[in-house]
Amino acid sequence: MRIANLDGRLVLLTGSGALDVADASGGLFGADPQAVYPRWAEFVSWAATASGGAPYDPARLGPPVPAPRQVFAIGMNYHAHAAESGFETPDRPTVFTKFPSCVTGPRGSIPLPPGGDTDWEVELVVVIGATAREVKAEDAWNHVAGLTAGQDLSERIGQLAGPAPQFSLGKSHPGFGPIGPCLVTPDEFDDADDIEVSCYVNGERVQSGRTGDLVFPVAALIAELSATLPLLPGDLIFTGTPEGVGLGRTPPRYLAPGDELVTGVAGVGEMRHRLI
Ligand code: ZN
Repeated sequence: MRIANLDGRLVLLTGSGALDVADASGGLFGADPQAVYPRWAEFVSWAATASGGAPYDPARLGPPVPAPRQVFAIGMNYHAHAAESGFETPDRPTVFTKFPSCVTGPRGSIPLPPGGDTDWEVELVVVIGATAREVKAEDAWNHVAGLTAGQDLSERIGQLAGPAPQFSLGKSHPGFGPIGPCLVTPDEFDDADDIEVSCYVNGERVQSGRTGDLVFPVAALIAELSATLPLLPGDLIFTGTPEGVGLGRTPPRYLAPGDELVTGVAGVGEMRHRLI
């Protein structure tokens, strides 16, 4: 199953296009995409009975999770990316947040902070569909609503400044957390633990990886995080980025006004942004 946010309304994506959930369900489910996650199991049952839909303009898609309560992001979760960043591969997940106000949709323009070095990071993003607290890894996927593509845009000067690096602030400028273009349930993937992710700048492929190479796979992340605090329906986990970021290049390369950034997750689709 695939869902999306079309003009701020929850839609089910079918073979025919987009089906407005509030209309098609006779108001059983509301229009707010965020409101579906606390009722995820009920929604999945309803969606299996729904049909219809109409063509839509992908430029009108917003974030499939517009207002998560918690956004977790994982650093150094691919060995080669940890090395290019100058870090050891950690023994436990390195966790920071992208403050929820940075979440935006899969299309449009993103402002570059003045005086910054803004870098790209394609990531698989996990969306929680059932509260997870002290969950074992073998049960973790049962708490996932679906997967989407994300960009963990990062302003490196702010991120790495100070005695304790400011990962959360440097990665939370407005527009720095695009997700989309849709949410796809795990059953739609041949192997939800081995998904290709890729990133292009002005048509040049700068990152290509597979989530099969994650140091801490999705289930391990849910187990680790939920040992400390509850993961809530509609929360996001940015799972980390593979090698190929601008910071790891010689010389470093950062995004510039006018650049086009394309972020892809196989089986989900592509996001397309212009930096301004
Ligand atoms: Zn990242």
